Amino acid sequence: MRTISHFIDGALVPGDSGRFGDVFDPNTGQVQAQVALASTEDVNRAVEAAARAFPAWSATNPQRRARVMFAFKALVEKHMDELAELLSSEHGKVVADSRGDVQRGLDVVEFACGIPHLQKGEYTEGAGPGIDVYSMRQPIGVGAGITPFNFPAMIPMWMFAVAIACGNTFVLKPSEKDPSVPVRLAELFMEAGGPPGVLNVVHGDKVAVDAILTHPEIRGVSFVGSSDIAQYVYSTGTAHGKRVQAMGGAKNHGIILPDANMDQAVKDIVGAAFGSAGERCMALPVAVPVGDRTADAFIERMSEEINNLRVGTSTDPDAHYGPVVSAAHKAKIENYIEMGVNEGADLLIDGRGLVMQGHEDGFFIGPSLFDRVEPGMKTYDEEIFGPVLQIVRAETLEEAVSYPTNHQYGNGVALFTSNGRAARAFAAKVNVGMVGINVPIPVPVSYHTFGGWKRSAFGDTNQHGPEGVRFWTKIKTVTQRWPEGDIGDQAFVIPTMG
Ligand code: NAD
Repeated sequence: MRTISHFIDGALVPGDSGRFGDVFDPNTGQVQAQVALASTEDVNRAVEAAARAFPAWSATNPQRRARVMFAFKALVEKHMDELAELLSSEHGKVVADSRGDVQRGLDVVEFACGIPHLQKGEYTEGAGPGIDVYSMRQPIGVGAGITPFNFPAMIPMWMFAVAIACGNTFVLKPSEKDPSVPVRLAELFMEAGGPPGVLNVVHGDKVAVDAILTHPEIRGVSFVGSSDIAQYVYSTGTAHGKRVQAMGGAKNHGIILPDANMDQAVKDIVGAAFGSAGERCMALPVAVPVGDRTADAFIERMSEEINNLRVGTSTDPDAHYGPVVSAAHKAKIENYIEMGVNEGADLLIDGRGLVMQGHEDGFFIGPSLFDRVEPGMKTYDEEIFGPVLQIVRAETLEEAVSYPTNHQYGNGVALFTSNGRAARAFAAKVNVGMVGINVPIPVPVSYHTFGGWKRSAFGDTNQHGPEGVRFWTKIKTVTQRWPEGDIGDQAFVIPTMG
């Protein structure tokens, strides 16, 4: 059976833990490979390689670092089909969606190509007599990224593209469920001219994560995953003196006002709720129609759309979505559906029990639709992360806005309306980090910044955009004095520029 190795100091390394994890093909339900699970020593080796590479890489001028990023971008584009197919074979999302996963990561690589401009400091001439003040953004050292299964190309690139362009070296610990694409990305980075040790990949579970969080040489940790783990990573990493940004789970709402273009809203929401089998942190699993007439019209149109959805294998070009990532995740989603029924919500469409002919053991699950879901139900309060759309009815816009505002998660939210004033007030007021107005999945472009609020993010800087550059650099401010003539008396009071 194929084994998936770590990538340390520019080479594939099997590791010496003797522990392996199963990597499944979600289409067939069969184990297709074994991934090495790192020991603490394996992580230490990766960190040592990154630390060795840091002095030369951080001293490489920013144009040269950008040139490696340009070459990397071209290579990833050249290998797009291979990467997308590999990604789909381990994740289960359809190949077209995997291409999007790679492309959204490449967008951040493109952003990172602008590092000579992005990392410029500031300068004040004449802050006092003969005094100038300037600041520079220096890389923090060895950075680490810990990533989830659902975007195995995009999320690693969010992190390492910006970190490395800033002059840091990097240790990536991707999800052990779909680990192959991150290794290919590291190989392509080397082929693009990245020196050995600048980008390392270690696979693993909690052992590897804890080794990263406690390693004194690692200065910054970026995490994306579920909220309880995000909180653990944040508190453990910061307790060990690191800067940490940790993005967590989500439960995004889409509010539909009576004046919305209903056809457009339904088409948008069906894609946002069921695309990638709902395994997106910016999926839209909760629809909040305002008024019963809106709700009834929404349900009628949405039911038609759902009945036309095609679930298929990840290689089926006509499939809207493929299998979920694992048998355990499929069982978890089905349990939530059962729980929703027991909690008193109306299950209008039941996606359980879907059998894919020829792929009977695959992790397929059909689309489900619930009506009359309410806060306080566990199935509403928690993230399901599957192809399940829940409808929460509201009487007024104020009531509708209160749902995402009061929810424990605050990643994304969308409003569907033709009323600009309502949209403007909504965007200003709602207690959520990323807002879409007639946009169902408001993932910001790479030169803005990605991050939620409340239990969707721990730490105070976001991914990519200028915030990403801030996270991966530390600022140093220099005050220099080149006085003309006499330098004046000794001063025992705090100097002022008066
Ligand atoms: P996960 O939390 O299970 O795993 C994320 C990472 O943490 C993986 O690398 C995993 O190996 C590691 N990990 C798992 N258990 C651990 C433990 N006990 N101790 C230390 N490390 C551990 O998440 P997942 O299932 O891979 O991904 C889905 C989750 O990620 C969802 O909750 C989704 O909303 C969230 N997500 C959030 C964003 C965002 O930007 N907010 C983006 C994508 C996914």
